[in-house]
Amino acid sequence: MKKELLLLIDLQKIDNQFRDVEISKGTLPQELERLQQEERDQTTLREQSQTRLKELELELRKRDKRHDELKLKLADLQKRLFSTQTNQEYELVTKEIEFHQDALLENEQSMQTALEQQEELQGRMSDIADRAVRLTESLEKLRGQYAEHSSASAVRITDLEGQREDLCASIPKPLLSHYDRIRKAKDGRGVVSVYRSSSCGGCFQALPPQKINKVRQMDDLVLCEICGRILISDTLDANL
Ligand SMILES: [Zn+2]
Repeated sequence: MKKELLLLIDLQKIDNQFRDVEISKGTLPQELERLQQEERDQTTLREQSQTRLKELELELRKRDKRHDELKLKLADLQKRLFSTQTNQEYELVTKEIEFHQDALLENEQSMQTALEQQEELQGRMSDIADRAVRLTESLEKLRGQYAEHSSASAVRITDLEGQREDLCASIPKPLLSHYDRIRKAKDGRGVVSVYRSSSCGGCFQALPPQKINKVRQMDDLVLCEICGRILISDTLDANL
């Protein structure tokens, strides 16, 4: 059994390296996703702002036309006022003038509001464009780093997979199955050393002295009764 246990130790070391490759990606994937999300948000915001700007332009054109129409109408009414024959007619035209003057004022106020909105949106579009340039630069840089890291990782993983395959060919199937099952269920560690001459190095449950002796002899497969991990001697200095 000692030979198989030593092979399992080598296997655990290889599996630890797979985990290290994964860890070495660091926060790159999350950072990339965050910037990509920001890029999508900015695109949505730009499109919404462009739509609103078009609506405002249309509204301003309509109000401009309305302004000219009201001005013409008022000039016409002023002329009519001077040619009125009766008091009743004079009052009617005056009321009509007041009505159109109110409409003119309301139209001018709406125009002012639309112009202010247009100015604000144009400013925002300019900010969005500046931000888009910076965002594109950051994304290009990060994508480059990520691609570089991914290709280096891919080479390392292919190498580790080859080593793992060779090693697994020499390990009895039932032992390998148990190791893989425990490793997947227990934080990537299927083989652990006795910890401080007293407990399981995986779950830190205290082990009886006879069990520790048995582990150190390495003649049998000894499992931790609590976590199921394969125990190996602490005299090996396996550095798992
Ligand atoms: Zn344990």
